[in-house]
Amino acid sequence: MQFEGQLLKMITHQATPIQYYLNLSHDLIHMNSLIGQTLEFNHLGYQCVNCQRDEKLFRMGFCKKCFFESPYASDSIIRPELSRAHLGEQERDLEIEKSIQLVPHIVYLAYTGEVKVGVTRESQIPTRWIDQGATFALAIAKTTNRYEAGMIELALKTQLSDKTNYRKMLKDEYEDDLDLANFRTQAQKLFPGEFSKYFNADQEIWHLDYPYTAPEKITTLSLDKRPSFSSVLKGIKGQYLAFEGGSVLNVRSHEGYVVSLNTKKEA
Ligand SMILES: [Zn+2]
Repeated sequence: MQFEGQLLKMITHQATPIQYYLNLSHDLIHMNSLIGQTLEFNHLGYQCVNCQRDEKLFRMGFCKKCFFESPYASDSIIRPELSRAHLGEQERDLEIEKSIQLVPHIVYLAYTGEVKVGVTRESQIPTRWIDQGATFALAIAKTTNRYEAGMIELALKTQLSDKTNYRKMLKDEYEDDLDLANFRTQAQKLFPGEFSKYFNADQEIWHLDYPYTAPEKITTLSLDKRPSFSSVLKGIKGQYLAFEGGSVLNVRSHEGYVVSLNTKKEA
């Protein structure tokens, strides 16, 4: 089978195990059923996820112009505490910023190789956790907008990371007694007073199950360094495709790349 198009982050479906669909110009390819098959990727060009032009990509699938102009790449996307829409203040496009920021947000703890804190729109659960490769996740607050969630996260970041170390995430080694509920108790003490009303101790811990077994050694594939490669797909975790021998491709970091994909069953 051959497919070709603009690579977007994989679409996921929460199940046991999680189901993954590679998104090539909105053609969805069910990846779980390709585990065990040889995949050949070829990098053909670029297509900015915003303006769709064939431009060298700058960050997050955006060309440089779009990264600095699009409301989907503004500072508050990366740092929620910088949100201004609740004050009626525009960063780049107030109507779009309102639609992104003035909706319920969740502050969560997730185990992605270590326990981290994060913020996402309520509608992005559990997608956000799956994209990060979280093995466990726990919502600890629900706020009315992005700014409030960002301020809680900022306070929790004094004790917890807000980044995912992908090597640790892909190693997937955790202690049997790891319990996010204990971290929730610690986190509650760090909530800023004015937002303590949003703390929520009622939520259950999610345990996410990936079609994945950690390899011995992990090496990263980049389509810039290797525009063409072919290998047997062994598993999927987060937004990573894991191949034979422990090489991994971060699909998300290749958003906007135009690629072809050939699949071949082993003889
Ligand atoms: Zn662009």
